[in-house]
Amino acid sequence: MTQVHGTCLCGAVTFTAALPTLWVAHCHCTLCQKNAGAAFVTWAGFSEADVAIGDDAGALRWYSATENAYRGFCENCGSTVFFKSARWPGELHITAVNFTEALDREPQAHVNWETHQPWLHLDDGLPHQPA
Ligand SMILES: [Zn+2]
Ligand SMILES: [Zn+2]
Repeated sequence: MTQVHGTCLCGAVTFTAALPTLWVAHCHCTLCQKNAGAAFVTWAGFSEADVAIGDDAGALRWYSATENAYRGFCENCGSTVFFKSARWPGELHITAVNFTEALDREPQAHVNWETHQPWLHLDDGLPHQPA
């Protein structure tokens, strides 16, 4: 079993996840955009049971923008690194760029493309899908 590791920007929140990922996708929803201050966020899906979170400083907070959906972020540096929702029971989504090691796959799709930023022009050949 291969494990991959990651941290928030300041390193207070850490995580270890066992591969394989369930999926990796770019999310263009408006909530991800505003939360990250970026055009899109690249998420890696894991089984929640395959992820161990380290939070010795007690810096991990959970913000709920919509019912039954939670974004886990570091209160010290502000990085959002986790997402979980009743819509995907048993899954924990982790921001792909916060991993130290390469994941087992590259992004497979653009989801919520209908709300992508109009000035964003991509030509990567990946499918555009609803969430
Ligand atoms: Zn941090
Ligand atoms: Zn999103």
